[in-house]
Amino acid sequence: MKSPVRIGFDIRLGSPTVRRVIHVGIGYDVHPLAEGRKMVLGGVEIPHSKGLVGHSDADALLHALTDAILGAIGEPDIGHYFPNTDPRWKGAASSVFLREAASQVRARGGRIVNVDASLIAERPKIAPHLAQMKANIAEALGVDARKVGVKATTNEKLGFVGREEGIAAMAIACVDLPEN
Ligand code: MG
Repeated sequence: MKSPVRIGFDIRLGSPTVRRVIHVGIGYDVHPLAEGRKMVLGGVEIPHSKGLVGHSDADALLHALTDAILGAIGEPDIGHYFPNTDPRWKGAASSVFLREAASQVRARGGRIVNVDASLIAERPKIAPHLAQMKANIAEALGVDARKVGVKATTNEKLGFVGREEGIAAMAIACVDLPEN
C-alpha cells in the first residue's frame, strides 16, 4: 500500500513542505593492477609503475562512490547503466558515471548530504593526492568538498591488495530524498 505523503510546515519558508527522509547506500569495487596502464583514482592520475585494468579508466574509487549513490536511491549498479561491453565507455573518465548518479539524485528532488570512501592500496602513497581527489569528487557531485570524505589504508601486505595485484575501494553515500 502506498503511504500518504506527509506534509509538514516550514516556519522559515512559511509554506507547507514535503517530509524528507535520509537514505544511505554502499559501494565496493576492485580493479587489477598491471604494467602499462595509467593509475587514475578519484580522477587523479597518480605516477606509479603499475596502473589499473578495466574497460573505463578503472577508477575504483569513483566506481565505489557511484554505486553507493545509486544504492541510496534504490537504483541498479554502475554495470547496469555503464556496461563494460559498451564501446562508449572504453577508456572513459569515470567522473561521467559519478555525475550521472548525482543527476539521478537531483532528478528525484534529492540532495547528497555527504559521501565517504576508503581506498585500500599497498602502494603508492595516496595521501599526497587526497585533497585533489576530494575536490574532483565534490565538483562531479556538485557539493562542497567538506561533504566528501576520502581516506586511504594499506592491507598490511595481506591478500591480493597486499601482493599488489589490485586496489580496492569502499564507499558510503547519504542522500536526502522527499518522501513519497
Ligand atoms: Mg569498477
